[in-house]
Amino acid sequence: MTEQERNELHERIAQVKERVARAAEKAGKKPEDIILVAASKMNNAERVQEAIRAGIEVCGENRVQELLEKYEQNAYEGADLQFIGTLQTNKVKFLVGKVSLIQSVGSVHLGEAIAKEAAKHGIRQDILLEVNIGREQAKSGIDPDELLDAIDTLRAKPSLHIRGLMAIPPVADAETKNLRYFNEMRQVFVDILTKKYDNVDMDYLSMGMTNDFETAIACGANMVRIGTAIFGARPYQIVSP
Ligand SMILES: *Cc1c(COP(=O)(O)O)cnc(C)c1O
Repeated sequence: MTEQERNELHERIAQVKERVARAAEKAGKKPEDIILVAASKMNNAERVQEAIRAGIEVCGENRVQELLEKYEQNAYEGADLQFIGTLQTNKVKFLVGKVSLIQSVGSVHLGEAIAKEAAKHGIRQDILLEVNIGREQAKSGIDPDELLDAIDTLRAKPSLHIRGLMAIPPVADAETKNLRYFNEMRQVFVDILTKKYDNVDMDYLSMGMTNDFETAIACGANMVRIGTAIFGARPYQIVSP
């Protein structure tokens, strides 16, 4: 990394933290109530380490292979590592024992595979249930109507600890910034919270990315996953002239 790239990264992280803090205060929360997850896909170990030096405390990866490569290079040293991407059951074994939280448990089947692997390791794996709040055909995540059944099945597994919900709403339109979906998520979250299920702690509501995290925080998110605003545009986002 050049000196300039380093400076820009530090500057962007300071700006994102400032924006998160302001959104938290507007929502009647303290800045430290909101967990900032740096979505570090496509950023190499050096850049991830620099982000951690600049104050990033949680990294989120969304591809298993990429996570393993960077893990070997000690990219995440000094930070908490979480998994936020689509996960196939046959890759679960590579994650359990390495990540503190798997955010993207979008099916009972996947939850059961994680439970099995965690039991082998003798640990209790923290997970979030991913909700397909937009009810999109092509998207992973549990249908909101099936969420309570899914919770009932998965909370019975002693090697799983459900810590909250995660959502990736449909691509935000510039106008509403997904306000409607975020509000629906908060409603679902509060419904489950009030039910006070055993073996379920609704600690985290993970929603909001670069384009809409302030709206998400206003709607009750206390975990945001931010990539572009921290690391800059990813290579495939840069449109060549
Ligand atoms: C990449 C990614 C993000 C962050 O996206 P940006 O728009 O770059 O902030 C958040 N969540 C998941 C699951 C991601 O893969």
